[in-house]
Amino acid sequence: MNRIEFDVVVVGGGPAGLSAAYVLASKGVKVAVIEKGEYPGSKSVMGGVLYLNPLKEIIPNVVEELKSGKAVERNVIEQNMWLMGKDGIVKIGHRNERWKTDPNAFTVLRANFDRWFAKKVEKAGALVIPKTKVEDFLRDGDGKIIGVRTTRPKGDVYCRAVVIAEGVNPILTIKAGLRKEDLKPNMAAVAVKEIVDMPEEVVNSTFGVESEEGTTIEILGSWSEGLFGMGFIYSNKNSVSIGCGALISDIREKGIKPYKLLENLKNHPAVVDLLKEYRTQTKEYLAHLIPEGGYYAMPKVYGDRVLVCGDAAMLVNSIHREGSNHAITSGRFAAETLLEALDAGDLSEKKLKAYEEKLRESFILKDLKKYRDLMPTMEKNRQFVEIYPDLANDAIYRFLHVDGTPKWDVQREILDMVRERRSLASLSLDLLKFWKSVR
Ligand SMILES: Cc1cc2nc3c(=O)[nH]c(=O)nc-3n(C[C@H](O)[C@H](O)[C@H](O)COP(=O)(O)OP(=O)(O)OC[C@H]3O[C@@H](n4cnc5c(N)ncnc54)[C@H](O)[C@@H]3O)c2cc1C
Repeated sequence: MNRIEFDVVVVGGGPAGLSAAYVLASKGVKVAVIEKGEYPGSKSVMGGVLYLNPLKEIIPNVVEELKSGKAVERNVIEQNMWLMGKDGIVKIGHRNERWKTDPNAFTVLRANFDRWFAKKVEKAGALVIPKTKVEDFLRDGDGKIIGVRTTRPKGDVYCRAVVIAEGVNPILTIKAGLRKEDLKPNMAAVAVKEIVDMPEEVVNSTFGVESEEGTTIEILGSWSEGLFGMGFIYSNKNSVSIGCGALISDIREKGIKPYKLLENLKNHPAVVDLLKEYRTQTKEYLAHLIPEGGYYAMPKVYGDRVLVCGDAAMLVNSIHREGSNHAITSGRFAAETLLEALDAGDLSEKKLKAYEEKLRESFILKDLKKYRDLMPTMEKNRQFVEIYPDLANDAIYRFLHVDGTPKWDVQREILDMVRERRSLASLSLDLLKFWKSVR
């Protein structure tokens, strides 16, 4: 019987796997992407803001192609951060004309984006095999990886190298011996998201934009009931994505259900005012894990004939909601490393170590390293979410509320308010801790 054989098998048709496959196939490498979902994107969840830079690196005229292929929703021209108190919000935001002519990011619905990307990959010459799960590796007598075993009958696929782009659940990464154990509860967040229907012109007026333009809102504070987590509201063409996530360990400890957190967010007066009756027009409800372990929780990303990229390699910077861009860039690095290795006829672990070096020299590992202590600091210092969002809201409310009190007295009231909730010494220490973890 003829063996099914490729140069490279990519496990997973998400941004990481598709990027790796696109770069490899564009250079004439025989590559297959194996995806367990009905089609790439069918099982994917993302907020989702897609930064364009990594795609511009690999696809010429990508902005035009994304728009004409209906792969994206709106061009993000404004980004906001809300610090949410019980009855108010402190808003910080930035809108820029330059983003209108030189897009930086689009909002996306992954089912559309991944499907578009998969078509590009097929056009470049790769084979995308959906509805097929990779269960394990095929190994020769010496234990060397020589292919993958899939759920299809007679579904063994042979290859010279495997790219693991399986997303957050590191099943094959563990089987490849690159991660010792499964993710711990403090290494991943559970995120829930709803897509609510909203007519295009209502999206425009709600967010103050034209039809092709979009805005983002990141939300920290009272919705999370003291858990460290981020909420978000992103405007799509004729819908809005609203969601939030928090660490599994925190959710378990507090016994809160993730959907309850999303209800808190949706029921906050500021969100009710913004989304009005459309808030309850739920079109889709989605849940997914986000790897949050960061730099310290990364697996080994290379081995003999195998590389790991994207979420499987823990390459998410949740502070800047950068995951899909890391996935696409790491997929490109994996492909470039394999192109060099295939050329040299050397797919050994020593040769493939170059992939880790590429990651280390890039913004990906530099950023993950920069923020390596942020999550542990937040986990140990609940005051950042339990005290400060409400304090900031109450202080600013008092400052702006004119009731005939002289400003010196208002200032004194605010200082007393701060002292009641956090001593000035603790506040200074908190500022220092925060600065040290993000500097
Ligand atoms: C709620 C939420 C909001 C987010 N918001 C943003 C955002 O705004 N911006 C951003 O950049 N990132 C965001 N992220 C993160 C981003 O979604 C991920 O970083 C990105 O999807 C990682 O891509 P990936 O290809 O590594 O993994 P995935 O996108 O998870 O793709 C992995 C693929 O592999 C397939 N697969 C898994 N195992 C197998 C197997 N054994 N055999 C075959 N196929 C398999 C899966 O079906 C899946 O299609 C968000 C994530 C979540 C959950």
